[in-house]
Amino acid sequence: MILTDTHTHIYAGQFDEDQDEMIARAIEAGVTRMFMPNIDSTSIDAMMQLAEKYPDNCFPMMGLHPCSVNADFEKEIALVEEWHSKYKFCAVGEIGADLYWDKTYAKEQEVAFARQIELAKRLQIPIVIHNRDSFNETYDIVSKLKNEDLRGIFHCFSGTIEEAERVIALGGFKLGIGGVLTFKNSNLREVVKDIDIEHLVLETDSPYLTPMPYRGKRNESAYITYIAEKLAEVKGISIEEVAEITTHNSKEVYGI
Ligand SMILES: [Zn+2]
Repeated sequence: MILTDTHTHIYAGQFDEDQDEMIARAIEAGVTRMFMPNIDSTSIDAMMQLAEKYPDNCFPMMGLHPCSVNADFEKEIALVEEWHSKYKFCAVGEIGADLYWDKTYAKEQEVAFARQIELAKRLQIPIVIHNRDSFNETYDIVSKLKNEDLRGIFHCFSGTIEEAERVIALGGFKLGIGGVLTFKNSNLREVVKDIDIEHLVLETDSPYLTPMPYRGKRNESAYITYIAEKLAEVKGISIEEVAEITTHNSKEVYGI
């Protein structure tokens, strides 16, 4: 059984003490494919070191996270573009908008998002979209800039069935399903029940959004098994089938 974690920040400082053991646990659990979204200029070195150490398991993306967009974002975007010119990344990510805490740079977030979508179109690689409290904003930009080749993932999807259907109607986009699926108070299970599994990929978003039974603790890629188990239960199929289909879906997006 091969499981794919399509969104995991395993290079983060939270893993400094036990990074190798944590990756070994993931591989042992069958999670042999881990896709790493970048945050900003401060996270690149740690991410690239991991990509170099585990070239068959840890795949880096390059992008500027919306929470790192401020008045100075042009410099960060220039660095993202420079990295893409010298290294073949599997995606531009993670990019998008985050209007949960702070709307000060909402306009700059939009500009940075659009610039990075254009970059992905030039490179013909997918985008990984962060859309916390900003589904409509990010969706509108994607639908406006979309061309035939543009594809990607709406990461950490937790919206309504109508929103899921809008994403699917774009064509080329998958919904990233994470720990929220296992939360007792979540209605994501109801939404996911009505979506064809061909549109879903699995993700942990480690070290955040830890699934049950470890909710509140540090998340890690091995825990994708809890999300896969829950999805198997919701869909009434085996975890092996969930692993096979969602890994196939992730290959469709990333080409790896
Ligand atoms: Zn993330």
